Amino acid sequence: MNTFAQYYNENKNDIDAVLLDIDGTVLHGPRAIGNSPAFIDELRSNGTPFFFLTNDGNHSLEQKCSFLRRCGVNADPEEIISCSGVIAKIAADNNYTNKKFFILGELGTPSFAAEAGIIECRNIDEIDECTGVINGEGDYDWHHHMEAVLGYFIDHPDSPYIVPNPDSYWPNSKNGKFGVGAGGQARFITGLLGEMGINIKLTYLGKPYSGIYDYTIDKLKKKHPEKNISLNRIYGIGDYLKSDIRGANNYGITSVLVLSGVSKFEHIADAPADSRPHLIFDSLN
Ligand SMILES: [Mg+2]
Repeated sequence: MNTFAQYYNENKNDIDAVLLDIDGTVLHGPRAIGNSPAFIDELRSNGTPFFFLTNDGNHSLEQKCSFLRRCGVNADPEEIISCSGVIAKIAADNNYTNKKFFILGELGTPSFAAEAGIIECRNIDEIDECTGVINGEGDYDWHHHMEAVLGYFIDHPDSPYIVPNPDSYWPNSKNGKFGVGAGGQARFITGLLGEMGINIKLTYLGKPYSGIYDYTIDKLKKKHPEKNISLNRIYGIGDYLKSDIRGANNYGITSVLVLSGVSKFEHIADAPADSRPHLIFDSLN
């Protein structure tokens, strides 16, 4: 078994920081993958800066942290970065604080949007009062809410449509099937609008888009002002070529694919050049 932990042990002096995807990399559903908890402890005891970086946008940092802890992974909410955490930066940069946004689905408990000072609205009768839309995930009344959002963008085509998780689908470890991701939902709605001649620009926050990396690098530098961190000495580890590997490559981070999740070895040859990993391992540890 070829693991990133072995590589890390031989090269740790050349590794400035590690960014770890969670699902498919550290955890598989309710279980830790291999000996991933021991590797996290090792990073911590060696003082290697690290963050968990997840496109799961509908669980708060506290919720995600409790999933990790239940699987035996020693984690702190402060060590986790969710795509929905970037809502705080978007809200501050664009003056969305105290503005009302229509929310499709959930954005964690507590909600990332509420924590960012955005007023959440899920009442379709009030959608026209909203500054924009944020596409969360989870259980909600797709029929009425998606139709309301479709109507909203026909009337307000210049309003922001924020999509924390760009993924089209996600593997559901509970039943072995797939869930429709926020990205898939948003592109369904904008696809219909496109057919009507209305082009809506989606603002994606998670991997592979730069928002989550800007946010992470900023946090990394603030947390470790004493370290001189170089982008190409940051190792971005994940199981999905389209998000983890493409995102790391486009940002100038060293990309590491682990074959313990979604992407398989045979997918690499067919992947676009920007989605091929610098390093490949069977698993994290
Ligand atoms: Mg993953």
